[in-house]
Amino acid sequence: MIFQDLKLIEPITKALKEEGYTTPTPIQAKAIPIILEKRDLLGCAQTGTGKTAAFAIPMLQLLQEFKDGRQERRHIRALILTPTRELAIQIGESFAAYGRHMQVKHTVIFGGVGQKPQTDALQKGIDVLIATPGRLLDLINQGFVKLNQLEFFVLDEADRMLDMGFVHDVKKVIKLLPAKRQSLFFSATMPPAIVSLANTILTNPAKVEV
Ligand code: AMP
Repeated sequence: MIFQDLKLIEPITKALKEEGYTTPTPIQAKAIPIILEKRDLLGCAQTGTGKTAAFAIPMLQLLQEFKDGRQERRHIRALILTPTRELAIQIGESFAAYGRHMQVKHTVIFGGVGQKPQTDALQKGIDVLIATPGRLLDLINQGFVKLNQLEFFVLDEADRMLDMGFVHDVKKVIKLLPAKRQSLFFSATMPPAIVSLANTILTNPAKVEV
């Protein structure tokens, strides 16, 4: 399979070419068509399999498709929750790379640093927010982040999220999300606690394993 088989829009195929990507990885080949059909997804995949692009590419495409013609003020349409600052930064770089020929705006927020640059970025208006749970809740509580118009939710590295003690924070965030949304859930392992968390987030998910 090549990327051309996945019916991606030209700004994305162009960016992928520039990145030097020719062939989708197995998780990408399986997940991208499912996400483009607007289905929920339960993905069992480790870092290094190309899972970031597996969700970032179709999300960028859907964000673009459903934006055309709309003139309203920019608001957060997609949230990606990830356990560490390093992962958050990497995901931000992926959105920047694959979305470089598009107008989708993103920002990254995480703890351990001053919040002013992050709140400034939020107040300029973004489409995609990539966040670690603690800082996200702080900024929600201060009124800098509103999730009431969210269309896409991604929980990345769910097993690590639980191992790091973020389960309560994650559950608090989930309660704030609109019921009508597309959710994508990724974990390297699927122990019972993860399966039950996935069940609270996903609706009739397609399952993909690599
Ligand atoms: P990830 O598993 O998302 O952390 O991605 C692992 C690495 O693979 C990243 O450095 C990506 O830039 C790279 N990558 C992802 N998808 C592809 C692809 N289809 N072709 C070549 N490299 C890729």
